[in-house]
Amino acid sequence: GTTLPKLKQRRILTIANQKGGVGKTTTAVNIAAALAIQGLTVLVVDLDPQGNASTALGADHQSGTPSSYELLLGEVQARDAIQRSAHNERLMCIPATIDLAGAEIELVSMVAREGRLKTALSEEALDGLGIDFVLIDCPPSLGLLTVNAMVAATEVFIPIQCEYYALEGVGQLLRNIDLVQAHLNPELHVSTVILTMYDGRTKLADQVAEEVRRHFGDAVLRAVIPRSVKVSEAPGYGQTVLEYDPGSRGAMSYLDAGRELAARSGLADTTTRK
Ligand code: ADP
Ligand code: MG
Repeated sequence: GTTLPKLKQRRILTIANQKGGVGKTTTAVNIAAALAIQGLTVLVVDLDPQGNASTALGADHQSGTPSSYELLLGEVQARDAIQRSAHNERLMCIPATIDLAGAEIELVSMVAREGRLKTALSEEALDGLGIDFVLIDCPPSLGLLTVNAMVAATEVFIPIQCEYYALEGVGQLLRNIDLVQAHLNPELHVSTVILTMYDGRTKLADQVAEEVRRHFGDAVLRAVIPRSVKVSEAPGYGQTVLEYDPGSRGAMSYLDAGRELAARSGLADTTTRK
């Protein structure tokens, strides 16, 4: 493929939607792989105790492995928790272990509890690693882990499943984003929305897609991710779909989505939110 020019500034995106099973993790790992294939250096931070992104990227994540948990506690530096993909050295991951399950509670009593991830992913902390993109995979809740992700990022990337009740809960997500923006991170904005698990045979999928485009305008990527068995099989092999079946429709659409994302500036004034 074509190699994209290096970014002037690192972009940090948090992949959020408090609904589970909408494709957050699948989008995080496959977009990351797509960006890496195009020559960009990408760090995925797994912030879900389930560790699904770590699994899909083939990263070690048994309890005790330096992970996002130790990172939040300030016990390790980002560079010491990073693992590189066996498939692409530009694709990196800070894994999540089951230890993270307690963090939501542990963080409550900590100093600067909302800003711990931001500190851990600061310019200095990532200096010299050449990272162009950081993608933070959030758990399906709007608790302190997700708030940490929203404080660390400038962009929110929302995957929306082309199903019934697709926009259910999105209002609450947007209100939380507004709260974080007002009180903790003025730069935060929804830069990107992606439609996932699209089934072209159903009228419903088209209706959902239309509604989402009406609501989010230009923030919605033109590339739509089809529902595909290959996409769901890949994590079982510790692979993204771009390694598992590079020619598949799922792989091609994530490649397109990655290209689109990289071509955008990610700045607030390029998005429309109605
Ligand atoms: P979340 O992180 O939002 O909980 P996941 O990315 O884990 O969602 O996806 C939920 C389930 O749907 C997983 O089993 C995943 O493999 C599957 N899935 C995600 N995207 C697709 C797709 N495009 N086609 C088929 N299955 C998908
Ligand atoms: Mg997930």
